[in-house]
Amino acid sequence: MTLPADKEVSFKESVNLCFDLARATLDIEEGLAQYIRNVNNVYQVRFPVKLNGIIETFIGWRAVHSDHKLPAKGGIRYSPAVNQDEVEALAALMSYKCALVDVPFGGSKGGLLIDPRKYDRDSMEKITRRFAFELIRKDYIGSGTNVPAPDMGTGQREMAWIASTYQSHRPGDIDHLGAVTGKPISMGGIQGRVEATGRGVVLGLREFFRHPEDVKNAQLEGTLEGKKIIVQGLGNVGYHAAKILAEEDGAKIIAIIEFDGALLNPDGLDIEKVYQHKVAMQGVKGFPDAQYFEDGQALLEGECDILIPAAMEGTINQQNAAKVRAKLIAEAANGPVTFAAQAILHERGVVILPDVYLNAGGVVVSYFEWIKNLSHIRFGRMQRRWEEGQNELLLQAIQSSGHRVPEALSRKIHLGAREIDLVRSGLDDTMRIAFQHIRERYWSHPHIESYRTAAMALAIEKISTSYQIMGVYP
Ligand code: NAD
Repeated sequence: MTLPADKEVSFKESVNLCFDLARATLDIEEGLAQYIRNVNNVYQVRFPVKLNGIIETFIGWRAVHSDHKLPAKGGIRYSPAVNQDEVEALAALMSYKCALVDVPFGGSKGGLLIDPRKYDRDSMEKITRRFAFELIRKDYIGSGTNVPAPDMGTGQREMAWIASTYQSHRPGDIDHLGAVTGKPISMGGIQGRVEATGRGVVLGLREFFRHPEDVKNAQLEGTLEGKKIIVQGLGNVGYHAAKILAEEDGAKIIAIIEFDGALLNPDGLDIEKVYQHKVAMQGVKGFPDAQYFEDGQALLEGECDILIPAAMEGTINQQNAAKVRAKLIAEAANGPVTFAAQAILHERGVVILPDVYLNAGGVVVSYFEWIKNLSHIRFGRMQRRWEEGQNELLLQAIQSSGHRVPEALSRKIHLGAREIDLVRSGLDDTMRIAFQHIRERYWSHPHIESYRTAAMALAIEKISTSYQIMGVYP
């Protein structure tokens, strides 16, 4: 199917065009396809907050793209550029993402038009609590209806404020902790949520590199070890992805692009040091062990094996797509490659691991957190010591049969699973299975030319099956 790819369109239109490409490969009733494609409802709210004696008005949105499964799930973004179109696009991506990785949620997303860097902590708390209240009173937050999580500009701190506001307005709700994910551990959060999206990106890349046919198709070979990688955005997602790739996989992060410029070191950057510098100095400028470029975005075109855009949408577009030299683009951010850019990159043989798959780690671990909150018990609490007892018996049996188990191995075998081990194992399993399904569809379908179309087709198919089974009436 040919769609107009010669001009830039909005983020939402870009997502919808990707939907159309995938939908054309499926046999679904047209009316149902149109229903799935569009956002179900969106709430726009304007609210006042008195800050230092002055009333300021804020505007925010919460969109529900699909509710074929409840709750609807998706982050809340704080950004000076967010708008309704963007929130709707992100909500749609959430629907497809959840369906693709078998997380039983509908898709939602929220946004607040604000530059968080301009407000102190107390003001941010007031604004967040007020925004949360507006969403709660319209039923846009609740463990069975709609569950927010962090996104660009928000983190554990904001989720804690939202959860606490929810609890004070719904005091009898025993499942109040399940109304928000990405919370601090002390408030019912789960180990491994902060790193989840970044780790998911790495797990997706590892699974890709387990398939030599796919690796060769991207004009690459071998494993992640020694691969030259450029990362755009050293925030929650970019930092964890870069750090894990460098420390656990032996990849070389040769460049980091941030909003205030870029750093380049062909021998590989020390991610922790760059991150600490960025936090302390509010930017990467002045970092000692690298070359600094004021026009950081130019490094998107730098020579590398893998480019990981982990900042925001639309950064690889019609202007720079023809100059991108990476062989593989790993979309850690949502929508970093525009629909027009995708066509140019495809033409040049650049392979894209799409956002709808690759950054699903966040929602997967949010799902685990939600289950933990609804079951009111930490993962591993019941079985960890029992497992250790069983492992001990097994070791004793091996050793009593005359075999010696080396001390280091014996210590590893002995361990029972902690919450973090179970979370990482569940995330790894999910990322592996989802990629296997995507590649199966990609290699087997004559009209599917990208992993994105394969992933979207699988997601649409699953959502459509849900609607067909339950019908479209309440
Ligand atoms: P974040 O706010 O923690 O980090 C974003 C980083 O990008 C910041 O360091 C910021 O300075 C930098 N940045 C902003 N504009 C830039 C530009 N033009 N060039 C280079 N760097 C720039 O946000 P995050 O949570 O890491 O989210 C990043 C992306 O990942 C977003 O697209 C988001 O929707 C997506 N995502 C996030 C999660 C999550 O769990 N946080 C889950 C799925 C997808």
